[in-house]
Amino acid sequence: MKILGIESTAHTLGVGIVSEEEILANQRSMFEPDEGGIHPRKAAEHHYQHALEILNNALQEADLEAGELDGIAFSQGPGIPQCLDVGAVMARSLALRYDLELIGVNHCLAHISIGKRTTRAENPTTLYVSGGNSQIIELRSGRYRIIGETLDIALGNALDKLAREMDYPHPGGPEIEKLAEKTDEIIDISYPIKGMDFSFSGLVTECERKIGKKDDKIIANSFQEHSYSAVVEALERAMAQENSDEALLTGGVAINSRLREMVEKMCEQRDAEAYFPPSEYCMDNGTMIAHQGMIELKADIETDVESSGKKPNWRPDEVEVEWIKED
Ligand code: AMP
Ligand code: MG
Repeated sequence: MKILGIESTAHTLGVGIVSEEEILANQRSMFEPDEGGIHPRKAAEHHYQHALEILNNALQEADLEAGELDGIAFSQGPGIPQCLDVGAVMARSLALRYDLELIGVNHCLAHISIGKRTTRAENPTTLYVSGGNSQIIELRSGRYRIIGETLDIALGNALDKLAREMDYPHPGGPEIEKLAEKTDEIIDISYPIKGMDFSFSGLVTECERKIGKKDDKIIANSFQEHSYSAVVEALERAMAQENSDEALLTGGVAINSRLREMVEKMCEQRDAEAYFPPSEYCMDNGTMIAHQGMIELKADIETDVESSGKKPNWRPDEVEVEWIKED
């Protein structure tokens, strides 16, 4: 079976192609704002402008014609409405033109599924930290339950905001990481954990107030140490509660080496295994959508055109996981 997947929930337009045996293509184009954060209309315009190019690049990389595919999967949500429309329009057009199955998938679940495929994790507790989402997710009784999550903004969004205030370019996560690597010094700021939930907007404000008074390196390091410790502590609590011996880290922030180090150490201490997918499958990508589409289609799950509208607020725990048989 060969499935093409389209990702367009936020800044990335991605097209990937998978079969059961192989990942056949992974192409992307990322919207980079001149100033500020992601402007919904401008990001959508970027996606429309690059749609054909990225689609053709993916087919070329896989050495396939569209008619040879078995299905088209797309990110139906959650995400920025204007951006979601682009992927949905592309997917519907391709499915109708080539008479292919259409599968609208949940973006968050696709992160977990590609994480499992690329690392061989079996039933992990997932820490999903990205530009728009920050959640701890675990499969229990037929659904991926959200055990902990941010109470305000996503961790990647917080990193991007702080970097912007310090006059570094977007995306801010890698900039903060480079700064933080240059010092071991930290200042005392709040530690934003509440049970298994966490929050970052207060921490961003606290750090913003230090700009100009403290070195950027120290602010960056303090933000990383406090925010990453909070999500890793929440992950550990979730694993203890669920009696889980596997952790999966995914989302764009999962590329961060300090965060990986913390997760690795925590898992070592509890005799658990930490799994880190390759960076290109941590950040938003079309391949994960293709893979999620493939496992759903194999379980006879598909989407008819009438119900293929965008779902900007679609939470992963709303999806009945019919493609995995639990013990
Ligand atoms: P995603 O939404 O999953 O594509 O992830 C994008 C987010 O990941 C942005 O907020 C980036 O700032 C963040 N990010 C990317 N690379 C890193 C990194 N090395 N460290 C921390 N955050 C990162
Ligand atoms: Mg994502």
